[in-house]
Amino acid sequence: MRQPASTAELVAGVLAGERQQVARAITLLESRRPDHREQARELLAAVADRTGGAVRVGITGVPGAGKSTFIDALGVRLVEQGHRVAVVAVDPSSRRTGGSILGDRTRMARLAASDSAFVRPSPSGRHLGGVARATRESMLVLEAAGYDVVVVETVGVGQNEIAVSEMVDTFLLLTLARAGDQLQGIKRGILELADVIAVNKADGDGELPAKGAARELAGAMRLMMPGAGVRRPPVLTCSAVTGDGLDDVWQAVLDHRSHLEAEHGLAQRRAQQQQDWMWALVDSALSDGIRASQAVRAERADLEAAVRAGETSAVEGSARLLELYAADLRAADSEG
Ligand code: GDP
Repeated sequence: MRQPASTAELVAGVLAGERQQVARAITLLESRRPDHREQARELLAAVADRTGGAVRVGITGVPGAGKSTFIDALGVRLVEQGHRVAVVAVDPSSRRTGGSILGDRTRMARLAASDSAFVRPSPSGRHLGGVARATRESMLVLEAAGYDVVVVETVGVGQNEIAVSEMVDTFLLLTLARAGDQLQGIKRGILELADVIAVNKADGDGELPAKGAARELAGAMRLMMPGAGVRRPPVLTCSAVTGDGLDDVWQAVLDHRSHLEAEHGLAQRRAQQQQDWMWALVDSALSDGIRASQAVRAERADLEAAVRAGETSAVEGSARLLELYAADLRAADSEG
């Protein structure tokens, strides 16, 4: 960060909805430096009672499905209706592959230009856990800053969806009518996570194939989730370019949320997410702690080489690393 801001300054700026302070707060959340993490914890604690108010929507789809066009068009509509819309992203691969960066402002030019919108690219980093943590914490800061719709964008590659579904209320799958491969192309796991499915590009020559694909997907969902009382995700069609169907897709998102609320499911879903997140934080803190341990660092290279050479098994290697870490902890304990 260029200039360290005090926590009080950041908190006041976030609560006042000042974009620049919101952006700085998010930069702080994205940092892995231990002193930044400490400040981030203070910041999150200070704004905690102003969080939780947004409609949290995850949007996934393969590259080219039309996610950025869709979020841009939908976001602009929501802003026109008086909402404040934030877009964040989870995409650990973006910088590595040099592909388009999710949540990039240039991909959502109209929305990003709006005073009522905040568009933030995916934090960089190779580890999904770290990227997802930063995104989740950013969502809290955005809620505290008064954004009442938070969209979390991700690409359909498997693990990312699970991470995003663990932080949103409603998960929307944006897909395409590609004759024959709509089912193979969509991983079954992603279908199971979806609360709403929309077949995009239902315009011009694409309209009929999109409608056909939607019928086929609805049929597949009935097979996957049989039974009378089961709530299956609605399958709709839309065009992010013409805007046709966007209102219906948004209504389906709100309907899903109302359904959750009616069954006390929203509170439950968020409570479960909190519990899962707690353990995810424990896992990542432990794993960071083990890697940072002096004793582990001293032996790590040799041990890795031995495992690669087949001289030590992975099981033995892991036990040795944990032993080294435990010894380090005991040493620190007796010093303190
Ligand atoms: P993303 O990779 O999922 O974010 O996809 P983009 O939003 O970048 O869209 C990929 C391409 O599909 C772009 O050329 C868009 O203009 C186009 N596209 C997106 N939505 C639609 C749509 O509803 N109809 C049509 N015909 N093209 C679309």
